[in-house]
Amino acid sequence: MATQPLRFALIAHDQKKDDLVAFAVAHADFLAVCDIVATGTTGQRILDACPSLSVRRLKSGPLGGDQQIGALIAEGLIDVVIFFVDPLTPMPHDVDVKALMRLAIVYDIPMALNLATAEIIIDNKKNG
Ligand code: PGA
Repeated sequence: MATQPLRFALIAHDQKKDDLVAFAVAHADFLAVCDIVATGTTGQRILDACPSLSVRRLKSGPLGGDQQIGALIAEGLIDVVIFFVDPLTPMPHDVDVKALMRLAIVYDIPMALNLATAEIIIDNKKNG
């Protein structure tokens, strides 16, 4: 029986987008066999760097993209969240970020908030 592709949600705040793009480039071969959803701007940046990846872009985070990813988690449609958070800049959509984290906790979805954790999770998934 064919296994279902892993479903990744990728998000980065503006100051962390370069880091997430570099992460996607470094793991492009693995991500190519995964289903990826991303918030709008993050998804576009990943596609610009890795045109061969299939990335479903949702709304931009401040316009509801984080909440859309939360809804996908609640529907059981996300396996891993990688969200590179900027801890130094106040965000107008801070409550949306908190709500997304809460749903990842409620549904026990692995969620990386920084590069070190993202590397551990993706290594685990590559070997799993
Ligand atoms: P963006 O949203 O990818 O559209 O910039 C990310 C966020 O700020 O939550």
